[in-house]
Amino acid sequence: ALNIKNLNKSFGETHVLKDVSVSINKGDFLVLVGPSGCGKSTLLNCIAGLEEISSGILEISGRDVVALSPRERDIAMVFQSYALYPTMSIRENIEFGMKIRSVPKEEINTQVLRVATLLQIEHLLDRRPGQLSGGQRQRVAMGRALVREPALFLFDEPLSNLDAKLRMEMRAEIKQMHAKTGTTIVYVTHDQIEAMTMATNIVVMKDGVIQQVGTPDEIYRHPANTFVADFMGAPP
Ligand code: ATP
Ligand code: MG
Repeated sequence: ALNIKNLNKSFGETHVLKDVSVSINKGDFLVLVGPSGCGKSTLLNCIAGLEEISSGILEISGRDVVALSPRERDIAMVFQSYALYPTMSIRENIEFGMKIRSVPKEEINTQVLRVATLLQIEHLLDRRPGQLSGGQRQRVAMGRALVREPALFLFDEPLSNLDAKLRMEMRAEIKQMHAKTGTTIVYVTHDQIEAMTMATNIVVMKDGVIQQVGTPDEIYRHPANTFVADFMGAPP
């Protein structure tokens, strides 16, 4: 579904992504891991069409990402920084993506209640983002993505602000949603456990260079180099 080949991305003098090549098939749950600053969010932003790439190929179903309209891209993204609309209520934030696709009112209400219950934010629907904690905002951002049924989900550390219990519950929910819908997911985390338990494929990146692509089992048993072994916690 998604073809990335020799992708390079620089911000001025800073060369952030270096000859990144990876292909993502429909139904993949691809987890992208790597240290802070290695370029994970930048890669997601490029896939979402929010950042222009400097060189290389980035195609969805054989078509250049930048040539696609947002509707054709059909991507729902949960940003690392949540990015909620501050003047809208929580309910309006969650509804937003459905409203612009003119989903019937009743369906919208049903969906909002479903994800709000799932994410345990039913009691917050009438508040504004400024009145929520970080973890609550993160769940709203997740809810906004989950009410849609996009071809591709991009998640940027969507559980980083949640406590351990909620994080475990959310992991299970996301996995279940993936299994049930067969949607394609690119999921960024720097939590190795999260990567090992959720991924069909893991991409390990360091300084903008892909170190290894493989199943959790391959990465764990046959790390390509000492960085991957260290980072994923495999025995030396
Ligand atoms: P983290 O785990 O901390 O979220 P990351 O892997 O997501 O890190 P990125 O946000 O992709 O890292 O940043 C990669 C590099 O690109 C960093 O060195 C960052 O400073 C730089 N960078 C990101 N966005 C910009 C920008 N708009 N202008 C200049 N440099 C940027
Ligand atoms: Mg990031």
